[in-house]
Amino acid sequence: MKPAMTRKEFRQLVTEVLATLPRDIASRIENVEVVVEDEPTAAQIRGVGLDPQQDTLFGLYEGVPLHERGHDYAALPDKISIFYLPIIESCTSIAEVRDEIRTTVLHEVAHFFGIGDDDLDEWGY
Ligand SMILES: [Zn+2]
Repeated sequence: MKPAMTRKEFRQLVTEVLATLPRDIASRIENVEVVVEDEPTAAQIRGVGLDPQQDTLFGLYEGVPLHERGHDYAALPDKISIFYLPIIESCTSIAEVRDEIRTTVLHEVAHFFGIGDDDLDEWGY
């Protein structure tokens, strides 16, 4: 059964996880906006090559990875979305939710650094 946890508590947990990231990672993602959403849109799921009828996402990075930026790069801040409902529905305890948030944040931060899903799969993220 999914843990009883409001969206507000979930958001608080995301804030806590972000505060525990290693300093050199945290300082590099200062311009990345981290937002909590209920769930991904069908377009977001399709955008990463999945089927909205069957698949969902725990998190999503949207933006231009560091290595693809020119020296004069200027744009809206990048965004990492963390999806509340898919995560809590896949977990049975608050400790598990915390772990899943941490894994998801690190996964999406890795995309910001230009690391692809194939490598992340290999490393268990
Ligand atoms: Zn990914």
